[in-house]
Amino acid sequence: MKFSQLLCPTLKDSPREAEIVSHQLMLRAGLSQKVASGLYSYLPMGLRVIKKIEAIVREELDAANCQEVALPLITPASLWQESGRWAKYGPELLRFKDRHDNEFCYGPTFEEAITDMFRQSVQSYKALPVTLYQIQNKFRDEIRPRFGLMRSREFIMKDAYSFHLTEDCLDITYKAMEAAYHRIFKRCGLDAVCVQADSGAIGGDVSAEFMIRADTGEDEVLICQGCQLTANKEVIEKTNHCPKCNSTEFKSVRGIEVGHIFKLGTLYSSALKASVLSDLGKPTIVQMGCYGIGVSRTMAAAIEQHHDEKGIKWPIAIAPYTVTIIVTNMRDEAMVETGLALYETLKHQKIDVILDDRSVSAGVKFKDAELIGFPIQLVIGKQFSETGTIEYKERDTQDTINVSKDAIVGHLKTKLETSN
Ligand SMILES: [Zn+2]
Repeated sequence: MKFSQLLCPTLKDSPREAEIVSHQLMLRAGLSQKVASGLYSYLPMGLRVIKKIEAIVREELDAANCQEVALPLITPASLWQESGRWAKYGPELLRFKDRHDNEFCYGPTFEEAITDMFRQSVQSYKALPVTLYQIQNKFRDEIRPRFGLMRSREFIMKDAYSFHLTEDCLDITYKAMEAAYHRIFKRCGLDAVCVQADSGAIGGDVSAEFMIRADTGEDEVLICQGCQLTANKEVIEKTNHCPKCNSTEFKSVRGIEVGHIFKLGTLYSSALKASVLSDLGKPTIVQMGCYGIGVSRTMAAAIEQHHDEKGIKWPIAIAPYTVTIIVTNMRDEAMVETGLALYETLKHQKIDVILDDRSVSAGVKFKDAELIGFPIQLVIGKQFSETGTIEYKERDTQDTINVSKDAIVGHLKTKLETSN
């Protein structure tokens, strides 16, 4: 992509509405835009980050034997009445009627709809276990949407649901999903911890939260100094000691919740009568698990974890582009030619690259590169005219080295290989 053709309206100052750093930087870096309270559009650069996170989620879930499906965004009230949640769920549930006076909601979560898909499709224990997931927009009518994508009303979420004949089988999948979540966040370049938690409104017995560590996070996490178990404050306050090793020494860190895994048991399957015939031919209500990842929230949390005063420092795996080539003077023919040739070479080698070919000052280009946070900058500037070298700069460490024009591609590829 050439920057001159890119829709990326960067801003010098933070819009006043943005209270937290991820929201400020997302608006300033031209990643997203506000449409109305709690509703945001993704601009091209923001959507690239989302797609990269989604691709990692898909790869890891598919590898864990999960199958992708797509449910309609709206769910008929009748399914929510079957589960009893139509009456229980508060005003966060956006309810509406169609022209025939039938009631619906815009789904904040999809236990009912997926259980309905399951009961229509599976009759025998032989098809179990099965885990289904989808990645799409959800809606929660927050009373006070805040912090941009961190607490928006519409958000992108991956939700998965597993179905089992026995609790033991659910245990195995629950643990496999926990492991998959660790791999997902690690591959995204994020430092995440798994925290034992209460299950809140969704119900069920056992649950854990995945938190991305960030000093600006709104959740407090306690790490046991005896056995490194991580738990949220509510769990420890109940017992005052570590449930695993009995230690009373805890270290407090802050985090942002980006994932949640639950053992639902038969909460929804019994209400919706989702049963299979067991090996003895006996109808058996299935055990369920549910597993969410806030994809848009993960993008915001990544910025909270990786930024400095100049802007975002994207981990390579989820950066909108890995490399930006900055040509400082677009009137210098040799510079322009070299930039273009390098750009074509990198594109050819399947490296995610952008060429900053805008007719703006070098200062503006540098500032935007730091603000948007491309992991690697290749600068074709004064030192190129003088010595024929290209400046290789890492956004995260700010490490800079001059490399000859002929060696730059090799240098870059070595760096990218070692960082993976
Ligand atoms: Zn402990």
